[in-house]
This record gives sequence, C-alpha cells and structure tokens, in this order.
Amino acid sequence: MDKLTVRDFDASGKRVFVRCDFNVPLEDGKITDDTRIVAALPTIRYLLNQGAIVILASHLGRPDGKVQDSLRLRPVAERLGQLLRMNVPVTGDALGVGTEDAINRLKPGEAILLENLRFHPEEEKNDPGFARKLAGYADVYVNDAFGSAHRAHASTAGIAAYLPAYAGLLMEREINVLGNLLENPDRPFAAVIGGAKVSGKIQVLKNLMGKVDVFVIGGGMANTFLLAQGKGVGKSLAEPDRVDDARAILASAEEHRVQVVLPVDVVVAKEVTRGSEYKTVPAEKIPTSWHVVDVGRQSQTLMRQALDPARTVFWNGPLGVFEIPTFSVGTKEMARYLAGRAATGVTVVVGGGDSVAAVEQQGLAEKMTHISTGGGASLEMLEGREMPGVAVLLDRRPVETGKAE
Ligand code: ADP
Ligand code: MG
Repeated sequence: MDKLTVRDFDASGKRVFVRCDFNVPLEDGKITDDTRIVAALPTIRYLLNQGAIVILASHLGRPDGKVQDSLRLRPVAERLGQLLRMNVPVTGDALGVGTEDAINRLKPGEAILLENLRFHPEEEKNDPGFARKLAGYADVYVNDAFGSAHRAHASTAGIAAYLPAYAGLLMEREINVLGNLLENPDRPFAAVIGGAKVSGKIQVLKNLMGKVDVFVIGGGMANTFLLAQGKGVGKSLAEPDRVDDARAILASAEEHRVQVVLPVDVVVAKEVTRGSEYKTVPAEKIPTSWHVVDVGRQSQTLMRQALDPARTVFWNGPLGVFEIPTFSVGTKEMARYLAGRAATGVTVVVGGGDSVAAVEQQGLAEKMTHISTGGGASLEMLEGREMPGVAVLLDRRPVETGKAE
C-alpha cells in the first residue's frame, strides 16, 4: 500500500481521531454480529499501547441527520469496553462543550467514543465546518473505516484537510489483500460472482476481465446471462435492459480467453417464499411461470471443477435466494467448498454484505483467507475506483536512492 499508516508516526501523548466502521447489525438494541468491532481492535490497541489519547468515531445505520435513540452507539461502546477490558465512555453528541470537556479530561492510554456522526446532516454532506470541528479534537487523523472509505463524508474524507491523515491497520490489510487480487494474484485466479443483479456488478466484471482466468456466475444475475444466451428465464429476477451488457461481457471473455461458467441446471420455485413448490430443471427448460432461486447440482459440480485448479478465488454474491433455507444449498455448498480450498493453501477472499453473511451463518468465516469488512467498499475497490477515504491519506514517498558524490 502506498499510504502511510499508524506505524509511521509517534502517537505517544497525541490526541488521535480514529474513524472506525462500527456500523454493526442491531436487534432490539443488541449487537447481533460484532465482526466490525473486533476488526477495529488492532488499531485501537496499537494506539493505546503507544500512549495515545484515542477519540473514536463512527456512523451507525441511516439516521438521516437526526437523532434516533435506537441508533445510539452505547451498545458499541459497551462491547468495545468488554473487548478492550477498559471503560470506553460514549458522548451524548459528537459536538458540543460537554464532548470537548470529556475529551480534554482524557489521559494517554484512554479512549472515548463520539456519538453517531450521522445524527448531524453535515457528516454525509462532507461539510467543511463540521469536518473542522471534528479535527479540532485531535492532533492526528487515522482512517480505519474501510467499510466507509467509498464515501466522501466529513469524517472519512473532509477531516483530512485539517490533520495529517494515516491509514489504520484494518484499512491497510483490506487494501493490501484486495489490491493484491487486482495486481498480483497467484494464478489461476477465479472470481465467483453471484447476487441479485448484473447492474450492480457490471463494473466489477469489467474490471476483473483482464485479470481473472475463470468467472463463475450464479445467483439472480446469472438469469440475465441466460437471457443473453437466448434462454427463457420464466418469472425470474432478470434485467432485460442489461442483456446487451451480459452479451458484451461474454464476448469480451472469449477475447480474453477467460472461461465463463454459467448454471446448466437451476432450482425453480413457483413463488420465492418459504414452503413454495420447487424442482430442478435444465437451464434450457425453465418453465414460464416459475422463478429461478438457486443453482442445481450439475452446475455446482461444473463450478467446482472450474475452480479446482485456482490458486486464488474471490467470491462476491450468493448463488441463490439463500435467505430461504431450501434455496441456500448452492450458496452453502460454495462456502464449504471454498473453505476446503482455503485449508489447502488457496487464497480465498470473500467480499460483499450478503456473501459474507452467508459464510458467517455457517461458521466458516475463520476458514477463509480473508473476509472483507467492507460490503460496498470492497466492490468499489474491485471496480478499480480510487476511494475518497483512501485518496486523502498521506502518500508513502518512494525511498530516494542515489550515489554519494
Ligand atoms: P452481496 O451483498 O454479497 O454483494 P448482493 O447484494 O449482490 O450480494 O445479492 C444478494 C441478494 O441476491 C440476496 O438477497 C439473494 O436473495 C439475492 N439472490 C441471489 N440469487 C437470486 C435469485 N436467483 N433470484 C433472486 N434473488 C437472488
Ligand atoms: Mg448485498
């Protein structure tokens, strides 16, 4: 990574503003998955051990610029406190005299969490005044919120105009792992792309085209490819206005000698609901009034055969409507298969909100080489776009070499 990180400055005694992505799922005020909090610990621990005063900040959910009690960060502060074995107070508001006082009272090695930044509309508007106020709390800015790095908000981008800006350790790891897929993957390199729609993944498919050896395509988006092959898809989720894009991707794959594996058999259901009647049919024979909801057994075998030689696999997007257990077979099989491959030393990277959820549901997250904490952000990175939250960080200058005169 060509950005400076927390290891590149002396944090002792400094006030460090750390933007984290604590946007965790909550149910009845309880955190149902603390992955993102755990992922932020290395940076926080590193800074505390250095004797920094750590000012943590994050958004949670979409309060749209208004205070919403259900989206307060107290549960996050409590969980953080348990994990760090120390008290992590949370302020009542990200701004205000009380918050300033609380920060001024902190001693080196202590941390505080600012209340949900998105209670202020200025955060998402990247308002310079708001960014400057946040910057006023600290001497240094650290961005460890990889999951928010694709957003140009006050705390993810604007603040870097007022403070020296460094990458956190999670940010560094995500960028290194995903960047390596794009720049220097162990070959053969395969991408398994599923999920709902082609439209959301077109840029990823295009950007990966020159880089992968194999594409495995499943999920709802495969339906648009089946249309491109002249097959009918019944009442399935599909994007007829994207058939030309799908055709262009298939043509480009041929040009680049990229193998594309599409479903040859599919599970179809009368309705996309629990308890619906379902059956497996060949991809050429999808009944007109049914919906494709999963990949079939034959497809799974073909997909595995195509993936067997791969030394690197990136997976984004479930292969079926995995929220309904009966239609989660293809997705679960893929998760198990890839966990097995990772155990043999293959680099397996999983990115994307729902794909990661599917892997976690089965308790296989630990088995993969890397699970990205950034849903949208990991996709944007694989689209080849520079992310605002990364662009603003200080560049690592190449070491100057020369001959002494
Ligand atoms: P990710 O979050 O991993 O990037 P997406 O958001 O693109 O994945 O897609 C996930 C969604 O795709 C899931 O809600 C799943 O139900 C849906 N999906 C997968 N296959 C199908 C299908 N055949 N028909 C309709 N929806 C599907
Ligand atoms: Mg999703």
